[in-house]
Amino acid sequence: MSASAGTVYLVGAGPGDPGLMTVRSLELIASADVVFYDRLIPPGALAGAREDAELVYVGKQPGVPSVPQEEIGERLIEAAREGKSVVRLKGGDPFVFGRVGEEGEALREAGIEFEVVPGITAGVAATAYAGIPVTHRDDASAVAFVTGHEDPEKTESALDWEALARFPGTLVFYMGVKRLEENAAALIAAGRNADEPAAAIERGTMAGQRTVEATLGTIAEAVERERVKAPALIVVGAVARRREQLGWLERRPLHGRRVVVTRARAQASGLAATLRGLGADVVELPAIRIEPRIDDAEVQKVAGALGVYELICLTSPNGVRLLFEAMENAGVDARALAGVTVAAIGPGTARALAERGVLADVVPERFVAEGLIEALEDEEVAGARVLVARAAEARDVLPDALRERGAEVDLVPLYETVRETPEPSEVERAQAADYITFTSSSTVTNLVEALGDRFPNSARIVSIGPVTSETARAAGLEVDVEAERHDIDGLLAALLDDVRQTA
Ligand code: SAH
Repeated sequence: MSASAGTVYLVGAGPGDPGLMTVRSLELIASADVVFYDRLIPPGALAGAREDAELVYVGKQPGVPSVPQEEIGERLIEAAREGKSVVRLKGGDPFVFGRVGEEGEALREAGIEFEVVPGITAGVAATAYAGIPVTHRDDASAVAFVTGHEDPEKTESALDWEALARFPGTLVFYMGVKRLEENAAALIAAGRNADEPAAAIERGTMAGQRTVEATLGTIAEAVERERVKAPALIVVGAVARRREQLGWLERRPLHGRRVVVTRARAQASGLAATLRGLGADVVELPAIRIEPRIDDAEVQKVAGALGVYELICLTSPNGVRLLFEAMENAGVDARALAGVTVAAIGPGTARALAERGVLADVVPERFVAEGLIEALEDEEVAGARVLVARAAEARDVLPDALRERGAEVDLVPLYETVRETPEPSEVERAQAADYITFTSSSTVTNLVEALGDRFPNSARIVSIGPVTSETARAAGLEVDVEAERHDIDGLLAALLDDVRQTA
């Protein structure tokens, strides 16, 4: 759906977990001409923006001069007047302590149409992730969202501490860290019980969320001691104690573990998402990038004449994808494989084939070249024409074995894996990694080269299988965990096992 030109969308991006962004927010970001965004938006929130969209940072950062509030309003108006579709993206909900009310008023005065897209506010999201229900039948029939840090230009406190002390329910303070000591004291002085449970939730729903538990009387000291930093919420109320039964985040198997994913960016997302779902703090350090070679004359020729082969071996899902792209370029489809025996090195490759309407005839039990050789033992290959479609720099084990058995083997390099330069911020985060996962030899070689002396030696190394492990050892690494099943699920299982054993 495209945003109608000239409209401004005041959009909430949720509390930080990218999965908590609304469908509507993602649609609008995808169609916007320009996005004005703040600091507290989830990582990757703008990944779906158009390539030609203008992305403008207008957030405030402590100690750094920021774009004044009035100027943000003016810039929204200006962009809308140019006929652009404008997204104003705010953390959490735009109307909850977001100052978007002021921006909306400025827009209305200028005669600019706007829409508001609510977001999940930190007050319910960070608390939910901390296992604290903001209301509870036995503990709290009401909840109040309160600002703990008021406009510094205001001379008198607008907060009625007596009313807040009497409030029959949960108090959730936003921006509450800086003035926590004064605020807690004011609440107690106004009559709120100092023994009431309280909690501080730091970086709610984000990697590294942390909760500090105390009482109203001790929370300021606890926050100081544990060095809780913004963004953080302070919760005051009996519900804070429900965490004992309702906490769930910390129970996830990879909670508190930082795991490096080295796969190519295009393939990493599945593994990264699964790891995040298990609670891991994922660092994406794509060590390799796939460079298709399907425009090479050699590949084009082979793709147009697959019928000459009796057997075709595919050694990765990338290989399958690119072979089919090459076939498409050559003007043929899956029927070109009609009389051909198709062998896949493992279930991922077989799945990629099945998605394109081809059920592999041969899938080995061990997902390495040697396994495929064993699985092909019953095939009559002497004198047969065989195609091995794979990466340019792959091992020669499979073609050599087939040639030894009398096959006439053609190799077609569908792609090359080249080194990717990792993001400096992710390299930094990787320094404190607990695990590094390697899914192929090329990820090992390229990561070792890319990081040099910044390779985090204290992390445990998880390898997908013996070939990758061998490369790792050759590069001077110690392999701590090797998957029994040489695919992504096998790697995950091995990692989880190791976490359990070393816990
Ligand atoms: N519009 C936002 C709030 C902006 S005010 C919303 O609806 O959530 C900024 C304050 O929100 C921070 O000082 C902090 O108190 C709170 N906050 C925002 N994101 C948070 C998070 N992920 N975890 C804890 N508190 C958060």
